[in-house]
Amino acid sequence: MKHTNKTRLNMVIGYPLAHTQSPILHNAIYQMMQIDATLLAFANKNCKALIQAIKTLSIELTAVTMPFKEQMVDELDFCSPEIEKLKAVNTIIQRDNKLYGYNTDVDGIRYALRDIPLTNKKVLLIGAGGAARAVAYFMNQHNVQLIWLNRTQKNAENMVNEFGGQIIQGYEVEGISADIIVNTTPLGMFPHVSCSPLRNYQFNAEQVVFDLIYNPLNTELLKQAKVHNATIISGLDMFIGQGIRQIELWLNKSIFSKKLIEQVKEVLIKSQIASTNKLDEACQNELHDH
Ligand code: NAP
Repeated sequence: MKHTNKTRLNMVIGYPLAHTQSPILHNAIYQMMQIDATLLAFANKNCKALIQAIKTLSIELTAVTMPFKEQMVDELDFCSPEIEKLKAVNTIIQRDNKLYGYNTDVDGIRYALRDIPLTNKKVLLIGAGGAARAVAYFMNQHNVQLIWLNRTQKNAENMVNEFGGQIIQGYEVEGISADIIVNTTPLGMFPHVSCSPLRNYQFNAEQVVFDLIYNPLNTELLKQAKVHNATIISGLDMFIGQGIRQIELWLNKSIFSKKLIEQVKEVLIKSQIASTNKLDEACQNELHDH
């Protein structure tokens, strides 16, 4: 769609922003839905300056990423009720010069796990940061047993106090027979693609393994799980689900459709392959140069 002087400007804010895929996701959806808008990445270290930019430029939708998700909570006029538990905002909608905060990560998690039975399941949650908080919040709505594994004991203890469950140490992982394993750490994320939060773990075919990482799509953790025929879910479905919900909050209408999701997924996968190829090429050139 051609941009005009009426094209609405949306933003993703964070620092740094080199690896964000939000512009690709949003702009693909705007294009598919013939919405005259564009989403730009706006990197700045200063949270207050970003708030000022949102107001001055009358930005209607702002996607918020690291490191501002937590800080933003105190900068907005209103926050949706789930923010009290999630303590983080990933979406700001501006209406009538007021800033409203939301967190659509839970919507993304709901979408990613839409086909997975959860009631009475044992869920191993690896990591205890902001994304783990969203997973725990979602899981708490489904009567599951939470088991926490995290590098820093204190952070896991804080999560247990808020969401319940028990803490285990790395050496206890094999003994707990988890039904669902969720990785919420960045271990395995590009460029450290050979890392995994569970090394030498014996997965089984009854398990579901959900990795929140979406770059790469097929993480080392998911590759290991696949070898043992476990059901695997990449973070891409969550990423698309949370992005669609952001646009729904902005437009105040449902846009969800299977066709839209399939098309967006294709765009994101292609762009990821293209950027990996570009990087491979850069590495090859560097090797030639030396
Ligand atoms: P965060 O708040 O910084 O939390 C990161 C967690 O990972 C912490 O519990 C931290 O442990 C642990 N961790 C970090 N580095 C580690 C290492 N080297 N070894 C062991 N543990 C380590 O980050 P977040 O916002 O929760 O994001 C976590 C991941 O989720 C990222 O990969 C992000 O891309 C992904 N994510 C995906 C989506 C999606 O739409 N798919 C949405 C949100 C987030 P400590 O407590 O010991 O520090």
